Parts: sequence; structure tokens; C-alpha cells
Amino acid sequence: MAFDCDLFVIGGGSGGVRAARIAAAEGSANVHLAEESRMGGTCVIRGCVPKKLMVFASGYGEMIRDAHAYGWDVAAGPFDWPRFRHALEAELDRLEAAYRATLAGAGVTVHDARATLEDAHTVRLAGGERLRARHILVATGGRPYVPEFPGSDLAITSNEMFHLPTLPGRALVVGGGYIASEFACILNGMGVDVTQIYRGAQILRGFDDEARGHVATAMQAGGIAIRCGTDVLRLERADGGIRAVATDGSETVFDLVLYATGRKPNAAGIGLEALGVEFGRSGQIVVDDYSQTAVPSIYAVGDVTGRINLTPVAIREGHAFADTVFGGVPTRADHELVASAVFTQPELGAVGLTEEAARDQEAIEVYSATFRPMQSLFAGRSDRVLMKLIVSVATRRVLGCHIVGPQAGEMIQLAAIAIRMGATKEDFDRTVAVHPTMSEELVTMRRPTRQS
Ligand code: NDP
Repeated sequence: MAFDCDLFVIGGGSGGVRAARIAAAEGSANVHLAEESRMGGTCVIRGCVPKKLMVFASGYGEMIRDAHAYGWDVAAGPFDWPRFRHALEAELDRLEAAYRATLAGAGVTVHDARATLEDAHTVRLAGGERLRARHILVATGGRPYVPEFPGSDLAITSNEMFHLPTLPGRALVVGGGYIASEFACILNGMGVDVTQIYRGAQILRGFDDEARGHVATAMQAGGIAIRCGTDVLRLERADGGIRAVATDGSETVFDLVLYATGRKPNAAGIGLEALGVEFGRSGQIVVDDYSQTAVPSIYAVGDVTGRINLTPVAIREGHAFADTVFGGVPTRADHELVASAVFTQPELGAVGLTEEAARDQEAIEVYSATFRPMQSLFAGRSDRVLMKLIVSVATRRVLGCHIVGPQAGEMIQLAAIAIRMGATKEDFDRTVAVHPTMSEELVTMRRPTRQS
């Protein structure tokens, strides 16, 4: 059977681009890639990257206030959203061009078009062109999901957050996950009056309870009104804004309503159903350890497979696919002990088991410390940092680490290496502290706070 290319990748996000690049550059494959939107995908264009830049932008107000305490004669003016947004758009243009250059450098042929499948080897581009590929990789990512309810069309999603013409005065953020909590903090830092509504008992479900509580308390102290155990019944236009009628009986008018109630895989409409590819309960593509679907020539990586929806995981999956299929080295994408950070203010970094999950598994010791870090303490703020280690009584291994505080994302990356290597509590203790830092607390917690 004659093929036009060795690999056709559908989707130019983190996972697809990595797979295409490695297959072409290291596997000497003839690779084509189709992207219907902007190259770079969710992470680069409407996710991690612009979000993190917004996190930085939103932090300067507090920094300027702190600077005054440190002797600097400066005062924060109003935040100029349009100026920041233009700079942000220019940066995204630069990054998109860099992604294109990387693909071109690796010899990948890019099609700026939607691609669908006609059979297990035939890709059809929106313009009508057909290509036959030996292997197909679906890396189409996901999209925000807004539940159906009266007035739901008045809500926006994270996709629109980067293009707001003006900043709202009052914003409602619905959801308690990564995206809701991060945007609540970003908007609050930019001077918006923020209410966050979450249907559960505490935001950031799935993270360590103590760490969630710590983040929520700090967010509230920072000025965000978090209303848990509440859901929105309907939205309606009112008084120049959007009235949200909630289950707690409240009726409040906002200028912007952001729904961050999860994401759905972009798996439908590609033509996969007719070919025998299997789907999970959330509509995600079911794959094996090597990212292969039930159709041998079709693979899938990233959010469309709904394993762990994080950019670095999609990159690992894409790379492992390329090594397996084009490098001659069968490689499983490893989903163990994946560290992550929630870029709230304060940040939350986590790796391994929560106290609750570890307690269900085996006997544990918990080492937990909260303290006021010197930088903000000096500036007169009462912020507290949380450092927490979960330790196995039987093996002494550190099963989990949870950090809440400035730069928690940076710290957890390094803690994750030690934990991944199987470090014990005594290995942490043998490590001499770097002083004065916040992270030295990780190697100086002598007595367990509790055992269970
Ligand atoms: P999450 O799954 O993290 O959170 C969704 C939230 O919406 C939950 O609080 C959920 O409540 C709530 N929810 C779901 N359905 C409804 C509904 N019908 N009505 C009301 N509330 C609802 O999704 P996100 O959108 O925040 O993020 C998607 C994924 O993107 C994350 O899981 C993460 O993998 C990734 N991400 C990672 C980031 C990072 O690494 N820093 C940043 C942003 C995203 P409940 O808890 O009750 O289910």
C-alpha cells in the first residue's frame, strides 16, 4: 500500500508538535501536521502561557505596595489592561512563529486546515486534499465545557479571558478547579471585585485538604468572596450587567461571568467513531500504555485521551509515541508521581499522595509547618506559607509533598525529583538547609505533626 507520509498529526498543540518534531528529526519520518486554529494549541495560545503572564501582571500591585515598605518611593497607578493585552498578543505571535519555525526546522509539513479521517489511513483536509498516512496521531486537545442552564450563553470561558476589550468591575467565577481558582486570583490582583462560586464544600478538590484550606483562606484574606456549597441557577441580563441567581438565594449583578467548570476532549467529529476507535465515559479516546487506539494505525496523545490533562504530560506522551513508532524503542508514557502547580495567589505545588489518600493506603506520619515568610512579613503582610510532607511509617519514604506559598511551583519541581527517586524522610533530614529560604523548612521539620 502506498503512503504519502509516514505520520499525519492532527493538532498543533504541545503533544502533537512534540511527536511530529521527534518523529521527523530523530525518526527520519516524513511527517505532516494539520492545525485548524493557531499553532501552539491550548497551552501556548489560550492556556498556560498567557495565563502565567497574567499571573505575573496581576502580582505587581502587591509588589509595588511591598516595595514601599522596603524603602522605595513608588506608588501603584491603575492597571492598564489594553496595554498589557497588546503586549500579551505580541508575545503569543512570537511564540506561535517559534513553534512554526521549530516544525519547519524539523522538516514537518504544516497544513493550516481542519483534518478529518476517511479511513484508518486517509486524512482529508478541509480544502479537499487527501493524504494517505502509515500512522495517524490524534492530538486535538480539549475545550472548555459550560453546563446547560438558563442564561448559560451569557457566561464566557477561559478562551475569551485573554481577549477582553476591558476589565470588568465585578466578576463572578464559577467552578472550584485549577482554572476557576487561578482566574479568580488573576482578576482580583488586577483590581476586579471577584466572587467565586463553587458547588462543593471546598475549592481545589483532589488536592490535599490542608493545602486547599490554606489556599482558600489566603484567597479570601486577599479579597475574593468564595461561596462554597452554592451553584448558579440562572443568568439574566440586568442593570447593565449579568444577574446571577444562585442556589443560596442570592441575586447579584456582575459585569462578567466566567465559567471554568471543566474541559471536554475534542474527540468527536474527526471521523473516529466509524473506524472503531473506543471512547470513554467523558468522550475521551481510549488508548493503551503506548497511546495506541483500538485501530492499530491510529494513536492519540494529550487532553483528547483524558489521562492527566497537563501540558508536560502531553509532551511526554507525544515523545513516547515517537520513540515507540519511529525510534524503535517501545516507550510507555509514565504517569506516576506527576507534580503540578496551581498558580493561585498564593501558589499551590503538589506531588504524590495527599494526606487523605496516603492515610487510606497505609500508616503515615505527617510533617506540616506554617510560618510567615520573611519577605512579606517585613512588608507588614500576614501571609502564611505551608510546607507539608507525608511519610510512610513502614518504608520512611516521602509519599507526598504539598507547598502553599510564593514560588511553590518552582519548589515542588525540585522536591519531585527527590520523591521520584524514592527519598526517605531521613534523606530529606540529611540535606543541609539553604538559609534563609522558605524551602529549608522541607529539611528541618523534625517531629511529626500527627500520625495516622
Ligand atoms: P477542573 O476539572 O479542575 O475543575 C472543574 C470545576 O468545575 C470543579 O470545581 C467542578 O466541581 C466544577 N464543575 C464541573 N461541572 C460543573 C457543573 N455542571 N456545575 C458547576 N460546577 C461544575 O477543570 P478546569 O476547567 O479548572 O481545568 C481543566 C484541566 O486543565 C485541569 O483539570 C487541569 O488538568 C488543567 N489545568 C492545569 C493547570 C495547571 O497545571 N496550573 C491550569 C489550568 C488547567 P467538582 O469539584 O464538584 O467536580
